[in-house]
Amino acid sequence: MNQIPAAGGGKRFADTIADPQAFIKARAKQDCLILYDDPANVRRTSQITLVIESPGNGVAATGGGRTGFSAAYIAGFGGNLETEINGVIAHEFTHIYQYNRGPGWMIEGMADYVRFKAGFFTLAQRRKGGNFDGSYRTTGFFIAWLDDQYPGFGRKLNQAMKTAADQTTFQTLTGKPVETLWSEYQAAIP
Ligand SMILES: [Zn+2]
Repeated sequence: MNQIPAAGGGKRFADTIADPQAFIKARAKQDCLILYDDPANVRRTSQITLVIESPGNGVAATGGGRTGFSAAYIAGFGGNLETEINGVIAHEFTHIYQYNRGPGWMIEGMADYVRFKAGFFTLAQRRKGGNFDGSYRTTGFFIAWLDDQYPGFGRKLNQAMKTAADQTTFQTLTGKPVETLWSEYQAAIP
């Protein structure tokens, strides 16, 4: 974190995030608050490493407590960079703290659910259509809607992924098959 390069995406990151250490702590803490109601249940991690790297693949990737964030992506981003960096990291740090014994679409959906709950997606970015297993924000906004209908749903889904979760977990938690929930959700989107 003391080796931010002096040019390109690394410099833009450093210019945008004044205190990277405080930033990492804030994003990690908020993710945990969204995912857990009891600190005792939080999936343990000993260390978080954030690297602004070049060349980066895509936007960012996380594994083993390390998040690599593409310097080229940061360099080329045209919108509100502070919101984007916070949003990407809210998503990536979810992968550090979430339980992940579930299908890929559910894991990525949870990460975008956390990004939305953290305030780095807006409902204006929600789209009608797709399917419950569309992954990323398609699944993430669905989980957010379910969390409104069934308070605690997001945290319960994360806990279910501690052992094993699949699409039948939606019925276990709500009493309704996921296809029914998806239809109701679609009908509720303006
Ligand atoms: Zn992800």
